[in-house]
Amino acid sequence: MEIACLDLEGVLIPEIWIRFAEQTGIEELRATTRDIPDYDELMKMRLSILDQHGLGIKEIQAVIAEMSPMPGARSFLDWLRERFQVVILSDTFYEFAQPLMRQLGFPTLLCHRLKVNNSGRVESYIIRQPDPKRCSVRAFHDLNYRVIAAGDSYNDTSMLKEAEQGILFKAPQNVIEEFPQFPAVHTYEELKLEFCRASNRDIEL
Ligand SMILES: [Mg+2]
Repeated sequence: MEIACLDLEGVLIPEIWIRFAEQTGIEELRATTRDIPDYDELMKMRLSILDQHGLGIKEIQAVIAEMSPMPGARSFLDWLRERFQVVILSDTFYEFAQPLMRQLGFPTLLCHRLKVNNSGRVESYIIRQPDPKRCSVRAFHDLNYRVIAAGDSYNDTSMLKEAEQGILFKAPQNVIEEFPQFPAVHTYEELKLEFCRASNRDIEL
C-alpha cells in the first residue's frame, strides 16, 4: 500500500504570497519558508504587514482568483492519482486554496485555516497541528502505508525525512545542498520517474 504526499505551493501551484506581493508591490511579502524557515515567525510577519497596509481576505482572494496551477501540474497530478493514493500536505489555508484546488480536480488537501473577522481582516491563523506534514506521514505509517513524498522547501524536509522516500522538486540550490540525501529534480517528467523508482510496485510511465 502506497501513498504519495505532495506539497502544494512551489510543486503544483505558484507561491500565493509571492504573487500577492507582486500584485500589491509590497516587497516584504515576498518572503516564504524558503527564506524564513520558522513558519510561525513568517506568518506573524505577513499578518502584521497586511494590517499596516489595510489589506484583508478580499484583496488576497482577488489575487488568488486570477492564479492557475503551474504548467503541466494538472496532468502530472492526474498521472500520479492513477497510480497512487495522493494526499496534498500544505502549509496554506483552505480559504486560499479553494479556487486552485478546483483547477486541480479537488484532490485531498490537509492544510490550515485562517481566522477572519466580519470586516475581512485576517486576525490570526489556526495551525492544524505542529509539524503537520511529518505527523501526517507518521499517521499514514500507522495505517500501514508506505509514503513517497515530494516538496520544494524547508517546511517539507521533515515530511521528506519521515517518508520511505523523499524527493525535492524545483527546490532552490541552498535546500538541495543542505539535504543531499534526497534526489532533486526539476520537471514533472523527472518527478514521475522518481515516483516510479521509489515505488515497490512495477509502475509504468
Ligand atoms: Mg512549497
